[in-house]
Amino acid sequence: MMIAAVTATSLAAQTPANAERRVLVRAGKLIDVASDGAKLDQGILIAGDRITRVGPYADVATAAGNAERVDLSRYTVLPGFIDAHTHLFLDGTDYANQLLKQSIPFRTIEAVTAAKAALDYGFTTIRDLETEGAMYADVDVKTAIDRGIIPGPRMLVATRALAPTGMYPLSGYSWELQVPAGAQLVDGADNLRRAVREQVKFGADWIKVYADRDSYVGDDGRLHSWPNWTDEEFKAIVDETRRLGRAVSAHATGVEGIDAALRAGVQSIEHGDGLTPELMDRMVRQRVYWCPTIYVGARPLTGRPPLRATMAEFKRKAFGEAVRRGMGDLIAFGTDAGGFAWAENPAQEFAYYVRYGMTPAQAIRTATTNAARLLGRDKDVGTIAAGKLADLVAVEGDPLSDPTALTKAKWVMKGGVATTR
Ligand SMILES: [Zn+2]
Repeated sequence: MMIAAVTATSLAAQTPANAERRVLVRAGKLIDVASDGAKLDQGILIAGDRITRVGPYADVATAAGNAERVDLSRYTVLPGFIDAHTHLFLDGTDYANQLLKQSIPFRTIEAVTAAKAALDYGFTTIRDLETEGAMYADVDVKTAIDRGIIPGPRMLVATRALAPTGMYPLSGYSWELQVPAGAQLVDGADNLRRAVREQVKFGADWIKVYADRDSYVGDDGRLHSWPNWTDEEFKAIVDETRRLGRAVSAHATGVEGIDAALRAGVQSIEHGDGLTPELMDRMVRQRVYWCPTIYVGARPLTGRPPLRATMAEFKRKAFGEAVRRGMGDLIAFGTDAGGFAWAENPAQEFAYYVRYGMTPAQAIRTATTNAARLLGRDKDVGTIAAGKLADLVAVEGDPLSDPTALTKAKWVMKGGVATTR
């Protein structure tokens, strides 16, 4: 019964003591994500964890009575950001070192600090796409946040992720050693169904699979890869996941991996460096979302391996092509944060989307309305409107002309509770 209760209420803010509190926020500028525009001097009235009214400040203030006031008249207010691809349990340092030398309790302590950092950057909801060897500890972090024990975004968690034997690190060690794996290694359709059931039993909201590995540039100039699963295996994962009311997120970088993931019927493609126009058209037909994770591969890094730059270039071209083909509403903001240190603000991803072909308003929608739809939570989050959860972020400057303004969160509210001032 406890598990059912936690699952059912996972996204609704857990702030019973706060239920009657009323807050009036005065926004100097309010970004309307639906219409691409900004409205000046707006009021947002909040009761408990929900928004009850939005409109010109003078009108809303009249209705607000003795509500608590928050003056953000010097700032631009947006819906709380959603990052649909994070790793709270990675800290941006050497992967093998994390798995071999850090205990899961230590990694959980780091994850707690990462969760706070994410919220302070303005991310009020995240989909955390696997713990990379830290088992089900993401469920514990999510529960601690839901209960108000620690600050952090609303979390949708993927727990362990799935890969076949020999196809996910750690690898390359002596066969005499038992080394930990960064994912749950499972082979065969029946075993995969069982693994999906187990992950859901212990709290997975999403199932994450590694569709491919070892990307390389082929003679045809495309980015290819080695697919990880037989079709029977991949379809068993998707079928069992959907049967349990969950969705599948597929890491896929090369043509073969993306193709296999689309044949199996996943709901989102992660990274997607090798996306071709044909694959994009299939994603549009199947309503499959793309989390591009550009910043992690394109940010300046000294001594970077040659393939990293090549893949970043593939992704830049694919992103521009996707926007030109009208796939923009299927691009969900995803950064792979944790793949780089949490001291670096994942909101730097926005500026890359604009540099690669989106308008600033489109880029903002990837982290609000688009990501909310991908996560199946668009009734609760993604816009500032009556009835929605009161998830807000205030930034300095004008993000509609300068997307780097989105890295300057000065005030964040999640479910009616302001977390930074
Ligand atoms: Zn990732």
